[in-house]
Amino acid sequence: MNFDSELTALADMALLRRRRTADSPCGPDMVIDGRPVLAFASNDYLGLAADRRLIEAAANGARRWGVGAGASHFLGGHFTPHQELEERLAAFVGMGKALLFSTGYMANLGIVPALAGRGDAIFADKLNHASLIDAVRLSLADHHRYPHVDTAALSSQLAASSAKRKLILTDAVFSMDGDVAPLADLLALAERFDAWLVVDDAHGFGVLGPQGRGTAAHCRLPASRRLLIMGTLGKAAGVAGAFVAGDRSVIDWLEQKARTAVFTTAAPPLLAVALLESLRLIKAADPGDLRRTHLRTLIDHLRAGLAPISARHGWRLPPSDTAIQPLVIGGNRETLAIAEKLLAQGIWAPAIRPPTVPAGQARLRISLSAAHSEAQVDRLVAALAEVSA
Ligand code: PMP
Repeated sequence: MNFDSELTALADMALLRRRRTADSPCGPDMVIDGRPVLAFASNDYLGLAADRRLIEAAANGARRWGVGAGASHFLGGHFTPHQELEERLAAFVGMGKALLFSTGYMANLGIVPALAGRGDAIFADKLNHASLIDAVRLSLADHHRYPHVDTAALSSQLAASSAKRKLILTDAVFSMDGDVAPLADLLALAERFDAWLVVDDAHGFGVLGPQGRGTAAHCRLPASRRLLIMGTLGKAAGVAGAFVAGDRSVIDWLEQKARTAVFTTAAPPLLAVALLESLRLIKAADPGDLRRTHLRTLIDHLRAGLAPISARHGWRLPPSDTAIQPLVIGGNRETLAIAEKLLAQGIWAPAIRPPTVPAGQARLRISLSAAHSEAQVDRLVAALAEVSA
């Protein structure tokens, strides 16, 4: 394989991704590749990634615990802040027990193969995140993909399955579309067909539900031993890492069998210290609720601004009620050109192309944060109107 010619082929299809280097902390105002930009690219939904209280907590954590965990959780790398964080996370999402991972990707790769293997069946939404898709491949279980949020199709697939163990996998908030999975219906199907339901709440944890308790709380899911929730800690929580929470016995099992938790160095305890502070801020009426309320206002404001532009060009603004607002333009080249023109105006809204989204559905993924102001959202809308005129 000639990698240079393969890379040229990707560039010719406008599919080459490009990393941009930030020379400022994560936030609305950033310095990217040496230039100031207004950024709509991060998943820092509550604006906590550079919050001074978290910085202080991390610094104190480093002074108290050092910078490295030194070993895996089973071999001396499990520190008091890790233990406390697991207990607080479990209580926060209303589950019996939680287990930490160093990223959401690692969590999914660990959870799924520990729950299902050869001869078992996994039922997965077609728009699930890459880490869930890879997790199913790693598990060697049979992979049934159902059309996006189509619970009737899923029900037929479950009814037709004779597998002994069944797993339903779904993003809670779809990462490139921003819509919310029908969790109550999915849980009802899990109960009916004796399946497990694994919910990836990367984009709901901290933002949705009372006090930011996540999408399951937002959907008022009843308690169920068949439910597992994976939450990431590098998005709304502003730090890094992930956890899975569920009934005590299934989490005890994952603690033994999730290979990406067992055979890896534990995340630095200073991150757990920062996350304990983050959890406190997420839960608090002030600033947590204030931030979520402001974010809600920004979402409505942005959608009102984008609707006429989208209609004028025949673009699509899918019905998303969350901080992830996709503006579906269609072609790769056209989408990239709009993103480049925005960047020339000092606004960063990344172009998302296949294979991250289906072919023909390239889009700008505009993500909002409570740290944005209405005036900044207005600037984005005005710039989009101008570059697409
Ligand atoms: N699941 C979903 C739905 C995601 O969007 C992401 C991150 N983009 C992940 C999992 C992976 O999480 P992390 O970034 O912590 O590895």
